[in-house]
Amino acid sequence: MSDVRKCPTCSGKAKYSEKNGEITYSAIEDEEAFKKIVQLKKALANFTEKIKTLEAEVETLRQGQSA
Ligand SMILES: [Zn+2]
Repeated sequence: MSDVRKCPTCSGKAKYSEKNGEITYSAIEDEEAFKKIVQLKKALANFTEKIKTLEAEVETLRQGQSA
């Protein structure tokens, strides 16, 4: 079970663990940030795809008007 506490050095979210009296904090914000970046990249890829589709539609309309 992970014990999430405030990191004493960067005051960010960190997993607190104590083993043989030794306390360690491992940052979890990096993992969360990485997941967010992956999500943003996916969203951006979808968005780019939509823009391309719209551009193609606009181009088709333009050609239809000039003809
Ligand atoms: Zn920290």
